[in-house]
Parts: sequence; structure tokens; C-alpha cells
Amino acid sequence: MPDRPQRGGWRQQEPEPKPFGKVVISKHAARRSLKAEDRPHDRFAPGAYTGKLDCFLRALTPIHVGSGIYELVNDDPVRGLITADGKVIVPGTSLKGAVRSIAEAISDSCLRIVRKEIENNLAAKAGPCKDLAQLCACCSIFGALGYQGRVSFNDARLSKGGVATHQIQSPYPPRDSARFYKDFQRRFNGRKFYFHGEPVAAQRGEPYQVITEDSELEFTVQFESLTADEFCLLMVAMGVLDDVAIKVGGGKQAMLGSVEIHLIRLEIQNTRESFTDFAAGVQVVEEEIVGFLLDKVGKANSLINEDALDELLKIWEYPSDRKAPTGMY
Ligand SMILES: [Zn+2]
Repeated sequence: MPDRPQRGGWRQQEPEPKPFGKVVISKHAARRSLKAEDRPHDRFAPGAYTGKLDCFLRALTPIHVGSGIYELVNDDPVRGLITADGKVIVPGTSLKGAVRSIAEAISDSCLRIVRKEIENNLAAKAGPCKDLAQLCACCSIFGALGYQGRVSFNDARLSKGGVATHQIQSPYPPRDSARFYKDFQRRFNGRKFYFHGEPVAAQRGEPYQVITEDSELEFTVQFESLTADEFCLLMVAMGVLDDVAIKVGGGKQAMLGSVEIHLIRLEIQNTRESFTDFAAGVQVVEEEIVGFLLDKVGKANSLINEDALDELLKIWEYPSDRKAPTGMY
């Protein structure tokens, strides 16, 4: 785009480079009817993946998942982290939300919760699913209003590392339209994903409690009756099949929240055999889990929009020496 002279004269400041990129919402949300034989809670559906995956996430940068409460650190108020039983956690809901937004963007799924104004101004028909008999891939996997979904994440607990204070430039108040991009017709046509970068502490700003870089947190993902294609989408969205660092929590514009998910143990129930003999029906994989997954479901990529995945992989180049903006962007 050619540079045009800025209006407003000398007082107008050049905005800083934006800390996020765009994954285009190019297609209508693909919705399928759930046929009786692959209805979600039919746990013995043939060919379905049911089981659990033990994982840990490693903080590549500090992580902040805010409790909304101020804690006192050396008598100064700082924005606190979520805890459970006095221990710092990354809630399963945050993990699921982060993985779901990735899965949505790369699978032409619907835009879940949006205001009418956004829904009416979408460049593609990708508004929220409303009919349980016609769900997009992500509503069908992760759940929709009145339907629980077939994947759950438990809270990630700190197994290594600790907590510190990190000063970040105060973010703008969150608006749901801020999650999207508009095209030249002012229609919403893309989802924002924040870049990875170097979370340099701001000189002036607000102190946030963070889980420190290099910390590790363990969690388990449970899944029920996923098809190979759904399982593939889940694994790609968690970044494990392509070795991608994803982002979780708050302060993303300040380059916080970059994490890498590692697999510890995979347990799959062989649903057919488990009818008769439970012990024989469980397959446990503890080594080369990624290789095992690539072999089993790596090619089952029918739900993945490769263009959208490519866009996201470009945005999530890692490592990256991008800096957080310190002013308007
Ligand atoms: Zn949906």
C-alpha cells in the first residue's frame, strides 16, 4: 500500500507495529449433522478415539492468567494469578479456550460468542452455531450451548518454576470486536493472533504477577469418541504435531503467554475390545508419542484449512525478536 501523508500534522504520532497478525475468515462455517452412529456420547462408536493425554506445558515467556484480584507484593498491589488450594495454576478453561480458538481458526469453524453487530457484519457466514443437529467442527468437539463437547482439559499445575512480578504497559479495555479484523468494507474478515516476541518489562506500566519463563505445568486432556480427523485437529491446535509454540492467558500484546506443549503419556481405549475385556482394551504410549500420533492420525486432515494453518504458522514464528508496543498501535 502506498504511503499517504498523515493527516493531523506534527502532533499525530506514528502508530507502532501491531503486535498481532490475521488469520482470514474466508469460508462459511462448515456445519455437519451428527449422524446417529457418530453421535458424541456414543462412546463405543467404531474407529473413535477415547482416552486421555498427560501433558506439560513449558513457559517460553512469563504467563499471566489473571484472577482479577490484586495481591500485595512488598506492600505494592499487583494483578494476581489464579490459584487453586493456594497453588498457582493455568485453569483448564483457559487452556481449552486457547486451543479452541486455534482449532476454530484453522478449521473454518464458527465464531462462537459474538455481538449481533459482529455477526451481521461478517465477510463469510461464520456466525455461531445455533442448532445442535448442525454443528461446526469445534462446537462438535469442544461443546456448544447446551452441549458439553467431547474434550476436557484439567487445570495445569506448576511442577517446576515459580512466580515473579512483570511490569507491562496497561492493555486497552477488552472489546469482543478487538478479536477481529475488518476488511475495507468494514466487515469482519479475520481473527487476530498475537505474535511471539520478547516480553521486555515496561518502565512504566502496571505490575502483573506471572508464572516465570521456563516453568512447567502438568495437565491432562480427556477425549471421548473423536474421529481420526477430529483428533488430528485437536493435536494440531495444541501445537504438538507441528512443534508450534502457542499462546495462553493475558498480556499477549506484551508478548506474554508463549508456551510449548509436551506429551508425557497417551492412553487410548480400544473401544471394541473394551466391551469384553477392559485391560486388553487400553493402549498406553509413553515414548515417541508424537511419532505414534503422526502415524495414526497425521494424515486425517480433512477438517484443517491448510491456508489458515499456514497463516497462523507464519504469525507464530518462533523464536521471534519482536518487541511489545509501548504506545498506540
Ligand atoms: Zn460452531
